[in-house]
Amino acid sequence: MSKQCSQCDARAELSLCFLASTVGRPERLQKCSAGTALCKSCMQSLLDRLGSAMPSAMVARLRAAYTVIDGQSVACLNPSLSLGSANRRGRDDAQV
Ligand SMILES: [Zn+2]
Repeated sequence: MSKQCSQCDARAELSLCFLASTVGRPERLQKCSAGTALCKSCMQSLLDRLGSAMPSAMVARLRAAYTVIDGQSVACLNPSLSLGSANRRGRDDAQV
Protein backbone atom coordinates (compact mmCIF):
# COMPACT_ATOMS: atom_id res chain seq x y z
CA MET A 1 0.00 0.00 0.00
CA SER A 2 1.44 3.35 -0.98
CA LYS A 3 1.85 6.24 1.43
CA GLN A 4 1.84 9.92 0.69
CA CYS A 5 4.89 12.07 1.33
CA SER A 6 4.49 14.05 4.56
CA GLN A 7 5.66 17.24 2.80
CA CYS A 8 3.89 17.16 -0.61
CA ASP A 9 1.30 15.22 -2.65
CA ALA A 10 3.80 12.78 -4.16
CA ARG A 11 3.97 9.11 -3.27
CA ALA A 12 6.41 8.47 -0.41
CA GLU A 13 9.43 6.38 -1.34
CA LEU A 14 11.18 6.19 2.02
CA SER A 15 10.68 6.75 5.70
CA LEU A 16 13.14 8.75 7.76
CA CYS A 17 13.66 7.87 11.44
CA PHE A 18 16.06 9.08 14.09
CA LEU A 19 17.89 6.63 16.32
CA ALA A 20 19.33 7.79 19.64
CA SER A 21 21.71 5.45 21.49
CA THR A 22 23.82 5.70 24.61
CA VAL A 23 27.57 5.14 24.31
CA GLY A 24 30.18 4.22 26.90
CA ARG A 25 27.77 2.28 29.10
CA PRO A 26 27.76 -1.49 29.71
CA GLU A 27 24.15 -1.70 28.56
CA ARG A 28 23.31 0.17 25.36
CA LEU A 29 19.99 1.96 25.37
CA GLN A 30 18.46 2.81 22.01
CA LYS A 31 15.28 4.49 20.89
CA CYS A 32 14.11 4.95 17.32
CA SER A 33 11.64 7.71 16.52
CA ALA A 34 8.47 7.14 14.54
CA GLY A 35 9.11 7.30 10.79
CA THR A 36 8.34 10.30 8.58
CA ALA A 37 7.29 9.37 5.03
CA LEU A 38 9.11 11.28 2.28
CA CYS A 39 9.37 11.26 -1.51
CA LYS A 40 12.86 11.38 -3.03
CA SER A 41 12.51 15.01 -4.01
CA CYS A 42 11.59 16.12 -0.48
CA MET A 43 14.37 13.93 0.97
CA GLN A 44 16.90 15.64 -1.30
CA SER A 45 15.51 19.06 -0.39
CA LEU A 46 15.70 18.19 3.32
CA LEU A 47 19.33 17.10 2.99
CA ASP A 48 20.17 20.37 1.24
CA ARG A 49 18.45 22.45 3.94
CA LEU A 50 20.00 20.46 6.79
CA GLY A 51 23.39 21.42 5.45
CA SER A 52 22.97 24.92 6.86
CA ALA A 53 21.50 23.81 10.22
CA MET A 54 23.42 20.67 11.15
CA PRO A 55 27.14 19.94 11.48
CA SER A 56 28.38 18.83 8.07
CA ALA A 57 29.64 15.48 9.43
CA MET A 58 26.11 14.61 10.61
CA VAL A 59 24.56 15.55 7.28
CA ALA A 60 27.23 13.54 5.45
CA ARG A 61 26.33 10.43 7.47
CA LEU A 62 22.64 10.84 6.78
CA ARG A 63 23.36 11.41 3.09
CA ALA A 64 25.56 8.28 2.97
CA ALA A 65 22.79 6.16 4.55
CA TYR A 66 20.23 7.57 2.11
CA THR A 67 22.53 6.87 -0.85
CA VAL A 68 22.79 3.19 0.14
CA ILE A 69 19.01 2.84 0.53
CA ASP A 70 18.39 4.67 -2.75
CA GLY A 71 20.87 2.45 -4.59
CA GLN A 72 19.27 -0.72 -3.22
CA SER A 73 15.76 0.43 -4.14
CA VAL A 74 16.91 0.99 -7.73
CA ALA A 75 18.46 -2.51 -7.74
CA CYS A 76 15.20 -4.05 -6.46
CA LEU A 77 13.20 -2.40 -9.23
CA ASN A 78 15.69 -3.61 -11.84
CA PRO A 79 16.64 -7.19 -10.89
CA SER A 80 19.08 -7.46 -13.78
CA LEU A 81 21.10 -4.64 -12.19
CA SER A 82 20.97 -5.97 -8.63
CA LEU A 83 24.24 -6.80 -6.97
CA GLY A 84 25.37 -7.54 -3.46
CA SER A 85 23.32 -6.93 -0.38
CA ALA A 86 19.99 -6.03 -2.01
CA ASN A 87 20.03 -9.36 -3.83
CA ARG A 88 21.07 -11.31 -0.74
CA ARG A 89 18.38 -9.69 1.37
CA GLY A 90 15.75 -10.77 -1.14
CA ARG A 91 16.84 -14.39 -0.84
CA ASP A 92 16.87 -14.21 2.98
CA ASP A 93 13.31 -12.89 2.96
CA ALA A 94 12.20 -15.77 0.73
CA GLN A 95 13.59 -18.36 3.17
CA VAL A 96 11.72 -17.04 6.21
ZN1 LIG B 1 7.48 15.03 -1.12
